[in-house]
Amino acid sequence: MQPKDTTTNEGFKGFTNTRCPFLPCHEGVRGEFNCLFCYCPLIAFECPGPYEVFTDKNGIKRKDCMACTLPHNGYRQSWTFIQKWLEKPVVWDGSPQTRYYKQKTKPSQD
Ligand code: SF4
Repeated sequence: MQPKDTTTNEGFKGFTNTRCPFLPCHEGVRGEFNCLFCYCPLIAFECPGPYEVFTDKNGIKRKDCMACTLPHNGYRQSWTFIQKWLEKPVVWDGSPQTRYYKQKTKPSQD
């Protein structure tokens, strides 16, 4: 087995579960639909995603991530995004989102 840091095979960075009955679970995903982060590793941490905050039946603040495509946008892109935000994780304190990740836009075809 090759170490992750030296392999040129990027198969571990994502996959699409085409048999999932919920696919596509988010609208507007760019590139390959990455299902690897179906349960986003950033749910308990600060993140730049466009989440909404709600209070569950136990009175705990939760993120509603329905509008977020960041963990799903392409295998390599979403892998890199998650690794970057897990480098120095900061526990989320239940506050509303105040920042948003700026997605790279494709060059105009005009
Ligand atoms: S808003 Fe996006 S990046 Fe943040 S926890 Fe939810 S799914 Fe993950």
